[in-house]
Amino acid sequence: MSQSFEKVRALTGMKDILPHESAAWEELEALVREWLASYGYRNMRTPVLEHTRLFARGIGEVTDIVEKEMYSFRDSLNDEQLTMRPEFTAGMVRATIEHNLLYDRPQRVYCMGPVFRHERPQRGRYRQFHQIDVEALGFAGPDVDAELILMLARLWKRLGLRDIRLELNSLGQADERAAHRQALIGHLEKHIDVLDDEARRRMHSNPLRVLDTKNPAMQDMANQAPRLFDFLGPESRAHFEGVCARLRDAGIEYRLNPRLVRGLDYYNLTVFEWVTDRLGAQGTVCGGGRYDGLLELLGGRPAPAVGFAIGMERLLDLWQQSGAASGKPECDVYVVHQGDAAQRRAALLAEELRDAGHRVLVHAGSSGFKSQFKRADASAAAVALIIGPDELAAGQASVKWLRQAEDDTRAQQEVVALDAIAETLKTRM
Ligand code: ATP
Ligand code: MG
Repeated sequence: MSQSFEKVRALTGMKDILPHESAAWEELEALVREWLASYGYRNMRTPVLEHTRLFARGIGEVTDIVEKEMYSFRDSLNDEQLTMRPEFTAGMVRATIEHNLLYDRPQRVYCMGPVFRHERPQRGRYRQFHQIDVEALGFAGPDVDAELILMLARLWKRLGLRDIRLELNSLGQADERAAHRQALIGHLEKHIDVLDDEARRRMHSNPLRVLDTKNPAMQDMANQAPRLFDFLGPESRAHFEGVCARLRDAGIEYRLNPRLVRGLDYYNLTVFEWVTDRLGAQGTVCGGGRYDGLLELLGGRPAPAVGFAIGMERLLDLWQQSGAASGKPECDVYVVHQGDAAQRRAALLAEELRDAGHRVLVHAGSSGFKSQFKRADASAAAVALIIGPDELAAGQASVKWLRQAEDDTRAQQEVVALDAIAETLKTRM
C-alpha cells in the first residue's frame, strides 16, 4: 500500500520564478545595477521585517497599504508587532537615520528586492512582488528631481520600451495643502451622495486620497474638485517650474496631471508616475516624488529627500513585449560522451573550458548519443563537443556547431585534438 501525501502549494499571489524565467530577471537586474552606478547610486540592503509602527508612521495610517495590505504579525518570542516590508522607502530612511548616513554628505542609494502586500492578485498585481527603489537623500533642489526623471527616461530607452509616458504634479507644502484641504472637504461634503463608503470614511482623515479613486461613479466629482495646484504659492511654483524647465532641456515630454496625488502620505512638491497602456489595468510602472518631511517624521534631523519605486514585474512584462529582452541560453558548450573513460575525460575538458570563460554543460549519466544531442539542442548551446571511444583513443573530440548560419561557409563539424579545443572555440565564439 502506498501512502499519499498532500501537495503543498505556493501562497496565492506569490510566484515562483522558474529557471526558464530567471535569465531575463538576472539580465534585467544586471542592467539596472549598471544604470544606477552610472549615476553614482549605491546599493543598500535593509531587512525584510521591520516594526509595524515604522510603516504605520512612515507610510501613513490612512493609506491602502497600512489599512489593508500589510503582512503583519505578532512575534510572540519578543512580544513585538512586526511587518513584512510593503515598500522600501520607510526602511531605507530608518537605516539612514539609525546609521547617521547624512552626517557629512547627502546620499544617493537604492534597494532592489521583494516587497509584500496583501492585495487581490491579477496580472501585474501580486502579493510578493519586486521593486527597484531609488532615493536621493539630503538634496533639496529641483535639479535632483529632474535628474531622477532623466535617469528613468534613460532606462526606458536602454530597455527599448515604447508607449511609456510621464505624468507630473506638485503637491506643494503643508500650509498650501491645508488651505486646499479645507476647500476639498467642502467639495466632498457637497457631493456626499456620490461618495462610496471608503471615500466617506476618508473624506476628513485623508481627503486628497479620495481623489485617487478608481471608482467610475466618482470620476466627475473628482475632476471638478478644487485643484491643489491652484493653491500653490510662488516658492512651490518655482520648484515645479525648475523641474519642468530641466525636462524641457532634455526633451522629455510630460503631462501635468492635477489629480496625481500618489498613494502614500508623505509626499510634497514634485510627484510623478510613468504609465503605459500596454499592461492592461495595472499601467503604472514607476511612481515617485519628493518627501521632505519623512526624515523628521521618523525621528531624524530634518532633511529633504526625493525618490521613486519601479515595479519589476511590470517592467519585465513591458521589456519582453518590446522584444529587446534577449534571455541567455543555458550554456555555450554542451559535452556529449560515450563510455566511462570518455565521461571522465569530458569532465576534465569542461573544467579547462570553464577556465577559458565558457559556460559548459557535461551530459550527466550515460544515455545514447541521440538523446544527448536532443538535450544539447534544447540547451541552446552554440556548440557540442563529442567524445566517443574512438575520439578518446585518438586524443580528439568532434566539434559540432549547432547554430551555424546558413550562409556561413565554415565547416559545421570538425575533429580537433583535445588540447586544441579551447583554441578552436576561441576563434569562433
Ligand atoms: P497601484 O496604484 O498599482 O496599486 P501603488 O501606488 O500602490 O500602485 P507604489 O506603492 O507606488 O504603487 O509602488 C511602486 C510600483 O510598484 C508601482 O508603480 C507598481 O509598478 C508596482 N506595484 C505596486 N503594487 C504592486 C503589486 N501588488 N504587484 C506588482 N507590482 C506592484
Ligand atoms: Mg497599491
